[in-house]
Amino acid sequence: MMSISDGTININIEEKKRIFNVVKHPKIKPTKIKVPIVTSPRVMAYHFDEDYQKQDMKMAMDGYKSTLRPKVGDFINIAWRDLVFWSGMLWDPENFPMKMYDITKYSNNPSNFGIDLVSYLPWYKRNLFRLLIPDNFTKVKNMKKMFEWGTKSTQERYNSGIIEFLEKKSKPDKHYVRFLEGYECWGFDNIGDSLAFMKPAMTVGVLAGMEKIQREWNIIETKCVGLGDPYCEYMLVPREIDELRSSLKKKTTTIDKVNDRLKEHILAYIQNKKPLMERPTLGSDVHIHELQQVTAAPLVADQLVMIFRMGGTKAGKKLGETLIQTGLNENEAVKELLDFMNYCKVGKVTLEETIRIYENSERFGMKTKDPSCYFTTGFLNGFMYAIKNQHVKEIRCIGLGDPYCEWEFK
Ligand SMILES: [Zn+2]
Ligand SMILES: [Zn+2]
Repeated sequence: MMSISDGTININIEEKKRIFNVVKHPKIKPTKIKVPIVTSPRVMAYHFDEDYQKQDMKMAMDGYKSTLRPKVGDFINIAWRDLVFWSGMLWDPENFPMKMYDITKYSNNPSNFGIDLVSYLPWYKRNLFRLLIPDNFTKVKNMKKMFEWGTKSTQERYNSGIIEFLEKKSKPDKHYVRFLEGYECWGFDNIGDSLAFMKPAMTVGVLAGMEKIQREWNIIETKCVGLGDPYCEYMLVPREIDELRSSLKKKTTTIDKVNDRLKEHILAYIQNKKPLMERPTLGSDVHIHELQQVTAAPLVADQLVMIFRMGGTKAGKKLGETLIQTGLNENEAVKELLDFMNYCKVGKVTLEETIRIYENSERFGMKTKDPSCYFTTGFLNGFMYAIKNQHVKEIRCIGLGDPYCEWEFK
């Protein structure tokens, strides 16, 4: 996720070491730097597999010609990400949003990765490297530089939205960014509230860690398609924002409206095969990393395990009941569910005696000590209960190193 991997520095991972190989740079001669990995378990990246991280970095070097998931590719439909995130909101509107904001900000802040790349450079190279990043992001032109240098290319690569730094509207230490077709708010116009959580938190986390002075940055959505605006806008400031907590916490009515709207979108796909969450320029998919920012969160915060499990159950049950209400029988409803999950590229989903998912996006690339597809398990459980009065249990999981995740019926 660090933009320094783009083009100038090749990063390899060996046993407990990261090798930074400066290969091409106008001012720094080719150099190799070995850095021990001491990332804290509180950072999501700690829970990712070394091979996955290696592959991710290799891809940054080869211009994303290969993929992380060989079977289904690296992009998933926005609707699946929304289902995961908003089921968390459904289960715990009180704590879930603020917890996700804090975890995301922390996990994306490079200064929490436990490595200081620059300090490993010889002093003369260190100074040259530091020239690349402005000392602080107070000035509008400095923040603009940061957005153009890093943030913009990440958004383009991940298909998460079209970002514009608002130079004229921004003032020193008060910056504005416009986000068009942002995946978090797309499809939820006029819900009556602002709807972005994750992308703002990721943005401000990365920026805070890149700034040389230690300051707490925060971000708030000031315009949103959810509020009826034609696009979303965020305000970034290096201080606490008094209204942030209340802005992230959503009313039950808002959460219900979002979940209902999402259900309408999904039904329109299932019944009429209407393309799901299609954006005019960017289409309907986002990079798997945008989903994994959400699904890796319970690996750093135990309290979230139950939220994803129970929220998933609630969402699955609701969808199952809805499909039965539309007149589908049990088998048809299950068939539609599998088709929907495969269409969203959740993974490669099959059903025989058991349900199997290859490359399940929830846990792909991560390692855990127990079967850990909390949302998927809850979702399948709720759905199967509503349809067939059956429960499922995850008995194999890619998080454990199994070749696929598998659920048996009980
Ligand atoms: Zn928005
Ligand atoms: Zn699993």
